[in-house]
Amino acid sequence: MTRTFPDAVDVAVVGSGPCGAAYARVLSELCPAAAVAVFEAGPLLADPPGTHVKNIVDPAERARAQRRSEGPAPLAAGTATDTMDGYADDAPRLVRPGTFLLADGYRQPGEDGLPGAAMSSNVGGMGAHWTGACPRPGGSERIAFLPDLDTLLAEAERLLHVDARAFDDAPFADEVRKRLAAALDEGRDDDRLVAPMPLAVVRHDDGRVTWSGSDVVFGEETRANPHCTLVPEALVTEVIVADGRASGVRVRDLPTGEEHVVHARFVVVAADALRTPQLLWASGVRPHALGRYLNDQPQTVFAVRLRDVVDAPEEQDGPRDEPAIVPHSGVNWVPYTDDEPFHGQVMQLDASPVPLAPDDVPAPGSIVGLGWFCAKDVRESDRVEFDESATDPYGMPAMRLHYRLTERDHASIEAARAAVRRAAAALGDPLGEEPLTFPPGASLHYQGTVRMGETDDGTSVCSPTSQVWDVEGLYVAGNGVIPTATACNPTLTSVALAVGGARDIAAKLTAVRN
Ligand code: FAD
Repeated sequence: MTRTFPDAVDVAVVGSGPCGAAYARVLSELCPAAAVAVFEAGPLLADPPGTHVKNIVDPAERARAQRRSEGPAPLAAGTATDTMDGYADDAPRLVRPGTFLLADGYRQPGEDGLPGAAMSSNVGGMGAHWTGACPRPGGSERIAFLPDLDTLLAEAERLLHVDARAFDDAPFADEVRKRLAAALDEGRDDDRLVAPMPLAVVRHDDGRVTWSGSDVVFGEETRANPHCTLVPEALVTEVIVADGRASGVRVRDLPTGEEHVVHARFVVVAADALRTPQLLWASGVRPHALGRYLNDQPQTVFAVRLRDVVDAPEEQDGPRDEPAIVPHSGVNWVPYTDDEPFHGQVMQLDASPVPLAPDDVPAPGSIVGLGWFCAKDVRESDRVEFDESATDPYGMPAMRLHYRLTERDHASIEAARAAVRRAAAALGDPLGEEPLTFPPGASLHYQGTVRMGETDDGTSVCSPTSQVWDVEGLYVAGNGVIPTATACNPTLTSVALAVGGARDIAAKLTAVRN
């Protein structure tokens, strides 16, 4: 079967994760007559496009969708596959279902590297596999030169369906918050107190949960837009740039190998924080900051059995069918502050990996996982470089990561470990002696590689509206755009920045049409 690639569009979007989807949605709302094409290297998993895999009810179908997201190369033998949402394993190359690791180039001799560096290739990107935690950034995490940051964050919350109250009925949630607050709230501003985690999720009356993926971000507005096309299994190999302007993309139809040139007045590259700089580099767009300032969020985890809780009897017979969730302690949030520069999330885990005593029968859901993220010491020398002669499994320039943890990073990881121990002690009895600090990259929150700047001073790739300096019509999106050192989960912020970029394109398209 042949597929139709358009000859020309107003806006070509590369990548269908939450950030690419945000461009399609905002443009569909603000410029419904504009022709928009979204090109996605990975396959379509389910309907509607971009559905979160956790919403796929059949376990075999869900597992198949996860496997189809794991890129073109098979998983290396012996690689540990995590099955407990990131709390289960200290393998040096932990890989989450639906993601695939960088096969090589992830560590240079004598450096720490990012052994956990991973990607997803599917309609919806990592947004089909994520946990949906959507905290707002605080203190120095915020981008000080963006006066409308809060407006953009509010819009991102709308597009992702963010709800902080979805698990309000969880029987232990209040108790968890009360204990954390007593230990940690002193001295915090009102918006930084221990709180329910804002989650990109819809909780239905029957207990079912729908996790937001790109399908929610696209929304009916995009799906009903006859001028918007989504093309899966279409790898963009080049952004065509002439005379300082983006003029289109070169796309490879992966099932047939055929190449197409699609002319476009605007090109948005939303291909994740490693592949966005890769595509710019492959296209000859190589500003000094490209690929530099790479950072991820060192992550420490611990598990705790809540002290002195008894399960509410009606919960024991609650619905167990996936994707329904039996709420126990929900997801709680210990926000980042400049004084306590960590982002903490405290999530219910449904089963204890280790009984504390032979006759120990824990109340269901009384085990909670604590995940603490640190902000990295952001440095120009931490970078992704690309190879002129070697290629990755897609035939794109091979990546080589340079990445070191500094003295400051080691100190901040130690401080995070102390903070997580303190939080654990406030909640109950820790399972295990010590928290576990994951190898770099395991956070899956890579940032900085196409960072935004206030001015073009060589330390940034794009302007405050995400347009690449010196290349008219070329925009970048995703976590790579975030310029600050953050500890909080980044997707809400990147979608907010995508909204700003999309509005900028919409204003330019409207000005031309009028
Ligand atoms: P992605 O979602 O990564 O999408 C990029 C897309 O671009 C991919 O589909 C890729 O195939 C495509 N692409 C790449 N190159 C090309 C090319 N050349 N041509 C065409 N297409 C291309 N974040 C949070 O904020 N909160 C969380 O709780 C959270 N939990 C997570 C849990 C897990 C298990 C995982 C895997 C991720 C989690 N994340 C979380 C991270 C979150 O998923 C990402 O931040 C988010 O998906 C980034 O969106 P994006 O659109 O920038 O990129």
